[in-house]
Amino acid sequence: MIIDFNRTVAYICPGCGEVTYGEFSLFELSGGRGISVSCDCGKSALKIFCKGQNAYTISVGCQVCEKEHEYAVPVSELLHSHFMDFLCPELLMGLAFIGDKDKVEHAVEENNKYIKEILTTCGLEHSGKNGIAILKALDKIQLLSDEGGVRCECGANLIDLDVLENGIVLECCECGATAFFTADDIRQENFSDITEILIRKDSNK
Ligand SMILES: [Zn+2]
Ligand SMILES: [Zn+2]
Ligand SMILES: [Zn+2]
Repeated sequence: MIIDFNRTVAYICPGCGEVTYGEFSLFELSGGRGISVSCDCGKSALKIFCKGQNAYTISVGCQVCEKEHEYAVPVSELLHSHFMDFLCPELLMGLAFIGDKDKVEHAVEENNKYIKEILTTCGLEHSGKNGIAILKALDKIQLLSDEGGVRCECGANLIDLDVLENGIVLECCECGATAFFTADDIRQENFSDITEILIRKDSNK
């Protein structure tokens, strides 16, 4: 029997929404060492590190909760399992997968379908990597709007909203002024802290 010590990692980068892949050998974890897989965008990393004698911790950022989730995995499971998935406890969508390459790739595909289903259930037809960010933005804008926090400089607060593949456009129904939020804007940590959106009449985008 040939034992395969190589594992594939995939995780959804909370910084850009892309699925990031990496490879490591279980030997890299020997002697209490850890590994880290970073996204090309430089905004996130998945880490596997030793915690205590018999357990490792997987740490990965979550674009839904905007924080890191940590999962404890017994050493024996990490060594012997050929597929593990790590879910966000809020939405039950997969954040990270570790195991044999084909199993991980399959799980990523299935997870994308699941995310699309969540979006559809929430009334959003969106299949791209920005779906979750846009869903969060819609939620936030609805909340602000309910509190009268979405207004145009012209004084109107009747605002039209358009979902694009890469962001959201708000348009004043009175004067036609627009504001564009890219998915990257939305993924910035401070987006959820916005207390009001003011559409400027001289905005050109
Ligand atoms: Zn990234
Ligand atoms: Zn989460
Ligand atoms: Zn206006």
